[in-house]
Amino acid sequence: MESLRVSAINDLSTKSPVILDGSAKITAIFQENVFTTRTAREFLSDEAYKSLAGSIKGGKKIDRAVANQIAAGLRQWAELKGVTHYTHWFQPLTGSSAEKHDSFFAIKGDGTAIEQFEGDALIQQEPDASSFPSGGIRATFEARGYTAWDPSSPPFIMEIETGKTLCIPTIFVSYTGETLDYKAPLLKSLEAMNKAAVDVCNYFDKNVTKVIGTLGWEQEYFVIDEALANARPDLVMSGRTVFGHPPAKGQQLEDHYFGSIPERIYAFMRDYETECYKLGIPLKTRHNEVAPSQFECAPIFEEISLAVDHNTLLMDIMDRVARRHKLRALLHEKPFAGINGSGKHNNWSMSTDTGVNLLAPGKTPKTNLMFLTFFVNTIKAVHDYADVLRASIASSGNDHRLGANEAPPAIISVFIGEYLTKVLEDIKQRVGTKFDEQDEAILKLDLHRSIPELLLDNTDRNRTSPFAFTGNKFEFRAVGSAANCANAMTALNTIMAETLKNFKKEVDALIEKGEKKEIAIMHVIREYIVSGEKVLFEGNNYSDEWEAEAKKRGLPNVKTTPLALDALLTEKAKHLYESNNVLTHIELEARHEIELEKYVKKVQIEARIMGELCTSHILPPAFKYQNTLIQNIIGIKEIGLKEPAFSNQKQILEKISEHISQISEQVSKMIEARKKANALTDTRAKAIAYCDDIKGAFFDQIRYHVDKLEVLVDDSEWLLPKYREILFLR
Ligand code: ADP
Ligand code: MG
Repeated sequence: MESLRVSAINDLSTKSPVILDGSAKITAIFQENVFTTRTAREFLSDEAYKSLAGSIKGGKKIDRAVANQIAAGLRQWAELKGVTHYTHWFQPLTGSSAEKHDSFFAIKGDGTAIEQFEGDALIQQEPDASSFPSGGIRATFEARGYTAWDPSSPPFIMEIETGKTLCIPTIFVSYTGETLDYKAPLLKSLEAMNKAAVDVCNYFDKNVTKVIGTLGWEQEYFVIDEALANARPDLVMSGRTVFGHPPAKGQQLEDHYFGSIPERIYAFMRDYETECYKLGIPLKTRHNEVAPSQFECAPIFEEISLAVDHNTLLMDIMDRVARRHKLRALLHEKPFAGINGSGKHNNWSMSTDTGVNLLAPGKTPKTNLMFLTFFVNTIKAVHDYADVLRASIASSGNDHRLGANEAPPAIISVFIGEYLTKVLEDIKQRVGTKFDEQDEAILKLDLHRSIPELLLDNTDRNRTSPFAFTGNKFEFRAVGSAANCANAMTALNTIMAETLKNFKKEVDALIEKGEKKEIAIMHVIREYIVSGEKVLFEGNNYSDEWEAEAKKRGLPNVKTTPLALDALLTEKAKHLYESNNVLTHIELEARHEIELEKYVKKVQIEARIMGELCTSHILPPAFKYQNTLIQNIIGIKEIGLKEPAFSNQKQILEKISEHISQISEQVSKMIEARKKANALTDTRAKAIAYCDDIKGAFFDQIRYHVDKLEVLVDDSEWLLPKYREILFLR
């Protein structure tokens, strides 16, 4: 029988792009499946509309009677679009989205069948929550959790083939009130940042009453053929290839980056983009990435909680639509060794209800002072809480990028560019002196024009920094491609809230002492530059010199997830999250536990699949080829020839035999190590054991021998599709 590998390769030539009608203008379908405020206006009574609008804008409570009206309007809209079911849609800590579908169908007391959707069903639902991670919270308290409607995010209709479902965005909480999802703490962190930022904004403009966070994510991913993916059990089970020899041609030519998009993939992109537009996801760019078969898409930035929902939806849509095209979208941070991994750059800023981007440089001395205030506070926040930020992006997948000489390193540093470095340097020089003409001169600089121009001119723009200022926003680049961005955004918003609160306290104290407002602000800015500047780094973040330098500066450099997560349990972190009303101690401890458990499970699956592949896929063709060589040598000897007639064969045979015995030995030892780790009851200890004693001790070693076999064994016998086939064949 033909192997899956061979049939997958043979089938490739029969596959053509799935062509869809792509003639619709984007504006004609944009938000078609979203219950926008405009749609709400159309389907709701004045009373219901006002109540909903108030809730979206100001977080006002919606009472039950009005909720019934809203539910009725929602059902009417959805039914006109052919919807039969609804679901509470939420983002549990598993990292994907979750749904439980119910139909509108109901039977009255007298037996009549009707369609209904009431306020209660809109507001609250009880999914069977026992299988979602809760870090022990539900076990300790109550064995159930519920989902609660989040009116700040609009309901939408998910179309799957012929079925259509009304999705109500919700948060997920335990019965005792602890949050069990990514969304609830995110909303709380946005509220904390709003309060703290409005207070600081009011130094400059009394009209500001609300500050929102903005997020524009850039999603990297790989797309490969479905049949080739299916022939790789490691990809199917763990999302990444645990074996695979680097192809003769990798990404060194960078020809993929500048190349055109292959047709089948182009059709896939058009298709998922259309689905995204209908759901209101404002995708703007698509292009090839550096690695072969790697791509990126990015939307226009949005308010953070909506942007997070949209990214979660996008990941789900990509996965589904790719299958429709007989392709697989890989969101894993490191599906293939030896070529670039995938990240998710989080472009982040804050914006006022008066329309000002708080990280956009100013045109006048006053707006410059406001910009510098928020800019320097961000640097200070990242400096003070680098460990908390690092913990927010920790995952087994991301460990392959961070600290592995690729993408941003595990050291969190901030890049601000030459020009702003000089501006901060000038301000700092004047620490301890009185505010005078020199300070005024700095504030009079035309930052608004100079900074973007300088960043554009500066060709390198420092792509290696994990946290870079890019003209009017910071770009948090260390986030993993598969992550829910809520985690990183919650951390960032919260450390910003905390830093701004302290900033205001210090400025107010100076004002109380009789200092002029501007002078007090400038004074604290100076202090913050001095106390936060060691986090600034303009050089190559991938270099060994930086690692040494960062160590000298005392910056944390934690390379693995189990240890990076420790930052969640420090007194500093507990105070940070609790005092800003984002996460209680209990919730933080639960999250720590959940992340560790996730880590253990992921590494465990990889270890299992490695062992299984070795015995079922790697060794059989190796044995077969070993036999072929033995027969060959015997045959040569039989006809009376002597060495060196078969010395080449003998050499290969020796090598193959050595790799085979190494693989067998290491796999057995790894199984022993797993047994030991599994016996540990403390989750942190178990995670560290999986990290060091299993992944660290065996993964690379086993892989080394397997990858050697891949190039030694007869290609026609090898079972797993090779990198060159997965990445380059279309
Ligand atoms: P690049 O980083 O590739 O040069 P851009 O600078 O155009 O690209 O923007 C990258 C991302 O940053 C886009 O998704 C964009 O929407 C987003 N972005 C732009 N301005 C802001 C902002 N004020 N807040 C958050 N994200 C923003
Ligand atoms: Mg970018």
